[in-house]
Amino acid sequence: MPATAKVEMNAYAVALENFDLAANALELEENVRAMIKYPERELTVSVPVRMDDGKIVRFEGYRVQHSTQRGPAKGGIRYHPNVTRDEVKALATWMTWKCAVVNIPYGGGKGGITCNPKSMSMGELERMTRRYASAILPLIGPEKDIPAPDVYTTPQIMAWIMDTYSMMKGYPVMGVVTGKPISLGGSLGRNEATARGCYYTTRGAMEQLKIPMKGATVAVQGFGNAGGIAAQLFHEAGAKVLACSDTKGCIHSSRGLDIPAVMKFKEVTGSVVGFPGADSIRPDELLALQVDVLIPAALENAITEENAGAVKAKIISEAANGPVTPEADRMLDKKGVFLIPDILCNAGGVTVSYFEWVQDENHLFWDENDVNAKLEKIMVRSFNDVLKIHLDKKVNMRLAANMLGVGRVADACRIRGLYP
Ligand code: NAD
Repeated sequence: MPATAKVEMNAYAVALENFDLAANALELEENVRAMIKYPERELTVSVPVRMDDGKIVRFEGYRVQHSTQRGPAKGGIRYHPNVTRDEVKALATWMTWKCAVVNIPYGGGKGGITCNPKSMSMGELERMTRRYASAILPLIGPEKDIPAPDVYTTPQIMAWIMDTYSMMKGYPVMGVVTGKPISLGGSLGRNEATARGCYYTTRGAMEQLKIPMKGATVAVQGFGNAGGIAAQLFHEAGAKVLACSDTKGCIHSSRGLDIPAVMKFKEVTGSVVGFPGADSIRPDELLALQVDVLIPAALENAITEENAGAVKAKIISEAANGPVTPEADRMLDKKGVFLIPDILCNAGGVTVSYFEWVQDENHLFWDENDVNAKLEKIMVRSFNDVLKIHLDKKVNMRLAANMLGVGRVADACRIRGLYP
């Protein structure tokens, strides 16, 4: 689909543009830019899979390591029909700055397979995952590149990757992936971590803008792991979630949705659409709602120059990666919208992935309160670090976060020097 190809090209162009803006603001020397801007390694793999009907279908997969300057590459694996190499490169680049913003000892990576997992059986998904894992095996490992879940990949899929890698090595290697099931070395709190990080950073923004949590209004685009659980956390904290959506449509209630009930409804029916007592609204209406907080939690390029003018939210919390285009960014900035950029807002996921890896490598098992308390500390500190740059340097929050992330990677690069 040509429109999709254009959108996916944009994601990497956006990542490069944001790097340039941060590098310019930091007055970064050209030699360092040359060493940290582009991916260090990119691998494209063919993934032939025997389907249930006996036919062999070939899928294309990718693993990109954008940076290993501050530690092993870290980043999710996405299964989606629109996955392209450029999209994976963009996502890998954002992972580098994200890990640096929250100051965990990782670089950035990402992987993906262009496929429609919703139309595949569990057997087909398992065979595809295991073949892909063996194809990217030379790149991954607990000390060099650690995958995790992303859109439409699950703890079960991580377990298959862990098992495939372990079979090849001849011994169990828990730390090769994060986001695993708890019974297989997964961390308590990992499933909710991205949403929790989004909640903590949004709470920080609300304090800054003096918006009380109780009764605050929220709209959420995308009701999956990040968006659904974020909606739940805001609901529990006393905010009113007025609208939410998934690929099938959007629901709205001016009194506020009963989010635990919406969750249960989605579990049973597969969608939020048709939730009893809610009105149905269009996707563009959801983005234009008069709310305190708008949370884009689906995919890239949700808010563009075409719909940014209609946004009325005071805060945008980017739970998704790259949901706002640079042109829309400029428009929202002019309107005075307080935007919490993706590399800060959704960094809770990779932070608890880091905790999972630390526990695996040290054979530890932390309880959930420990995990959540450590996560809150890192997210609050990171939000305040970015806020300080935003206020001191009078730059918007995205540029402030990119300056912090790019600046830390640049420091590591200068200290390590150039090999050989
Ligand atoms: P998910 O598969 O659990 O959920 C995605 C949700 O978005 C689904 O409900 C889907 O129906 C919905 N969706 C897709 N396209 C949509 C559209 N056009 N309009 C409305 N809804 C739409 O995925 P996730 O893990 O929640 O990831 C969502 C975003 O968050 C992605 O950008 C991902 O990269 C980012 N993210 C996720 C994590 C994590 O730990 N899960 C961490 C960091 C960033």
